[in-house]
Amino acid sequence: MYGARMFPWWTEKQKRLAEDLAQFVDEELFPLSREYERSLKFPWKIARKVADKGLFSIGFPEKYGGSGEDYGTVGKCIVNEELGRIGFGMITFYGTTVYGLGSPLTHFGSEYLKEKYLAKLTRGEILGAVCLTEPQSGSDAASMELSAHRDGDCYILNGKKRFISNAGVADLYTVYCRTDLSPEAKAKYKHLSGFIVEADTPGFTIEKVHELCGLDGVLNGVLNFDNVRVPKENLLAQEGEGWKVMTGALNAERVIGAAGQMGPTRTAIESTLEYTAHRIQFGRPINENQGLQFMIADMVTMWTMARTMIYSTAYLIDQGEDPVLEASVSKLYASECMMKVAHHAVQLHGGDGYTKYYPVERAFRDAKVREISAGSNQIQRLLIWRQALNRYRDLRQERKSMMPGKETKADLPRAILELLAEDYLAHPGLFTDKEDLKYRLGIEDEERLKTALLGLEKEGLVSLYRSRPETISLIKANHKGLSKAKPDDYYRMIPEWAQEDLQKRLKDIK
Ligand SMILES: Cc1cc2nc3c(=O)[nH]c(=O)nc-3n(C[C@H](O)[C@H](O)[C@H](O)COP(=O)(O)OP(=O)(O)OC[C@H]3O[C@@H](n4cnc5c(N)ncnc54)[C@H](O)[C@@H]3O)c2cc1C
Repeated sequence: MYGARMFPWWTEKQKRLAEDLAQFVDEELFPLSREYERSLKFPWKIARKVADKGLFSIGFPEKYGGSGEDYGTVGKCIVNEELGRIGFGMITFYGTTVYGLGSPLTHFGSEYLKEKYLAKLTRGEILGAVCLTEPQSGSDAASMELSAHRDGDCYILNGKKRFISNAGVADLYTVYCRTDLSPEAKAKYKHLSGFIVEADTPGFTIEKVHELCGLDGVLNGVLNFDNVRVPKENLLAQEGEGWKVMTGALNAERVIGAAGQMGPTRTAIESTLEYTAHRIQFGRPINENQGLQFMIADMVTMWTMARTMIYSTAYLIDQGEDPVLEASVSKLYASECMMKVAHHAVQLHGGDGYTKYYPVERAFRDAKVREISAGSNQIQRLLIWRQALNRYRDLRQERKSMMPGKETKADLPRAILELLAEDYLAHPGLFTDKEDLKYRLGIEDEERLKTALLGLEKEGLVSLYRSRPETISLIKANHKGLSKAKPDDYYRMIPEWAQEDLQKRLKDIK
């Protein structure tokens, strides 16, 4: 097994799992996966093997046939990474079943639902699919329109879902619907509900199976719901809590999905090391060229960094933390890592890399999807940006609490100008935050501050930035304001080495 480090924070049980799975994948899954290559067919035999090995039970409560929760998120990452080595498309059924169906059932299913469905899942008797995306609703998942309304003991579902993996092969579908049409409910994210829908429910049909760029073996398509009656017992959590259900285990799902990509990425690296050692051009193996060695070094660097990020985030989750930032970074970086590694791997296999005889062509086609699905990489960047901003605000708050506020001055406009002049000295190009100003001047009275600021603006002494029409958020003193605040000497900063020249010139001019 090439360099798949076991991290020091893995438990003995997790290490044994990794060892056992490495052998299982090498000896039993790789030979089977070759049977499916180029067939585009769903890998039923692989699904059977994975079920017989008991892998659907990993991490689920023993009460429902699970192997116990002490494998943790780290254990689930190990499973997904090892299985992923045979190709991302070959094991997509595992993620949709275990995380798309199993996680919401475990965390939000009633006792009745867990007994009815979870035990079957852990025994590997059923496959699952997760249904969020719709024709008009993608990244903006909260805008979904598939409706569910209560009718006696049932909910009636109408609408469409698209891009659903495992379409037609899944036995159970986790379906998120709109149960409240009011804008107020939507504003509070209380407009959605999650349901478990059985595949043979009347009115539920597969409308289309997509022909995809990659993910050979994945049946992905459009589902149609035409007056589908779902028993009220199949509701997850409470009506209106669909958003909570959908996002409840998001950190874990992101990080486990990212681990799934480390498997095919590793396979692509292994194949590249093997290929470049045995291909002779210009009288020597091509891996003796330093340019090529650097490319492989970059591939290994990204893979190593991604894996370390993933497994340390999984560990944080198992310690009960809520690492939103780290989970998004893991998802983002792992998908870009796989894309880059696959791209280099194809290049380093030359023409062979472009054929279907080596695993790198498939990794290249499969890699792209994870930059789009499960919250696209732009959406991850938005989340990371928001987290970074929150952390920056928290830090500022902490610093503020260490800084004593000044006493409120009677002449507030003057005090504001002096403070802005102080800030100009330190950061001449930056605006000052209104909240900072309030704190530093010891002002509680929002209206008093606003009146003072508007007065200064009217006199042309300050510029105000409004984040919304009525909301002043940033302030800076302009030229006139700075002159009024302090004499010119206050702002003068001339280094010693420049003073002589400066004075000389002044003398010359005189
Ligand atoms: C192979 C495959 C399998 C899938 N499996 C499933 C599944 O099993 N279940 C399921 O529910 N869904 C599934 N999906 C759907 C997938 O999650 C969506 O494709 C994804 O969420 C993006 O939605 P969209 O395609 O509608 O793109 P859009 O949301 O329309 O986005 C188009 C582009 O605009 C960008 N964008 C959108 N909004 C912003 C913004 N605010 N700021 C910056 N950029 C933005 C996006 O990142 C993207 O690049 C699958 C998709 C594929 C391709």
